[in-house]
Amino acid sequence: NHSSGNGREFEFDFDDPSLRAALELHHGLARQGPGSAATTRRLLSLAQPVPPRPRALDLGCGPGPSAVLLARETEAEVTAVDLYPVFLDELRSNAENAGVAHRIHPENRSMDDLPHPDGSFDLVWSEGAAYNIGFDAALRAWRHLLAPEGVLVVTELGWTTDTPHPEAREFWDAVYPLRSTAENIALATAAGYTVTATYLLPDEDWFAEYYTPLEQRITEVDPDDPYAVEAADYLRREIELRRAHGADYGYVGYVLRPRG
Ligand code: SAM
Repeated sequence: NHSSGNGREFEFDFDDPSLRAALELHHGLARQGPGSAATTRRLLSLAQPVPPRPRALDLGCGPGPSAVLLARETEAEVTAVDLYPVFLDELRSNAENAGVAHRIHPENRSMDDLPHPDGSFDLVWSEGAAYNIGFDAALRAWRHLLAPEGVLVVTELGWTTDTPHPEAREFWDAVYPLRSTAENIALATAAGYTVTATYLLPDEDWFAEYYTPLEQRITEVDPDDPYAVEAADYLRREIELRRAHGADYGYVGYVLRPRG
């Protein structure tokens, strides 16, 4: 996913048939990673105080489950950023159905290349997406966007045990080496934040709106499309890993405030 020479550090290579097949498997899902409305609400309550009509930024918004909830429940103006135009189209239609399209502003750009001025957001939000540029890089890149009293809420996958099963370690090491919650707190502190709360997403958040519909999708893959079959096999392994060793890793929400 990385390219160089054009000044941008991160791009999707939409000509890559493996990536395209993986993305297509995800079209039309309500969410694109573990989460739930209950969790977004919980994180929002942990993030208080937040101004009544916050200027919000949702990074890696996907089809917009959190962007739409924030717009509905806080009267936020939400700038919603994603690199993948198909998800932004889905966000537009979800926002319209929820009656909040006028307060959601989709932007097709990379979360590591944001043009917004310093201090322009009260609430920066990112569920299951910071890993795309790396948690540490994300925290450092986003800090200047926060108003002095602003708050960053970000969920990040990490180990929930000191002794993860070797299969889990091997699987995640190959794609995105995980850290413990304590290590992520240390990174956030070093990046200039105070960690005011953490919240481990319940196991149900992996399945109800993400793995369960995805698993159904996997069974419908065209067996003559090798890229789709490969993408489906990978996701099947990821879901099996969760069933076998899910207690060893989890998504954690971090509520972060910029330190003076
Ligand atoms: N937050 C959404 C949710 O919870 O359903 C989406 C989570 S999904 C696991 C990660 C999202 O990050 C995808 O929508 C993907 O297109 C987007 N993404 C990946 N790399 C990105 C980047 N560099 N900049 C912006 N969005 C990116």
